[in-house]
Amino acid sequence: MIPGDAGLPEEMRSAMIAHAAAAAPREACGLVAYDRSSRPVRLYRMTNVHPDPDRFEISPVEHFEVIQEAEERGWRIGAVYHSHPRGPARPSPADLRAGLDEDWISFVVGRRPGGWKVAPFLIRKETARRLAGPISLTRAPSPYQDVLS
Ligand SMILES: [Zn+2]
Repeated sequence: MIPGDAGLPEEMRSAMIAHAAAAAPREACGLVAYDRSSRPVRLYRMTNVHPDPDRFEISPVEHFEVIQEAEERGWRIGAVYHSHPRGPARPSPADLRAGLDEDWISFVVGRRPGGWKVAPFLIRKETARRLAGPISLTRAPSPYQDVLS
């Protein structure tokens, strides 16, 4: 496990950053599927359909397709990521109000001088909590249980 990355494999972290860089100046967004052992197994790049360049909304059609594919494989969606091409790697006030699934980890890909940074959060009741590591996901029935206990 990578401390502070909520168990995110390095290749997924790199993929999030690559997606963020490709989508800039618009925000990029995507989902992460977890297997039955709560290990992240697949990163899905999603289309951001929000009309505001500083916001994101996952394409509902793609969202539906990804949930179906994940269920067919015995996976489930456990995390969402999005980027802040001009902002820090932490949820914005709009993100806190967005009503994201409260069981998901929210990875925010922020930009700062010198590069991009990925940070994981739980957002509940419009409050963000930064996940810190090391976090073991493999024994937990959900990807955040160890963090909450
Ligand atoms: Zn945001």
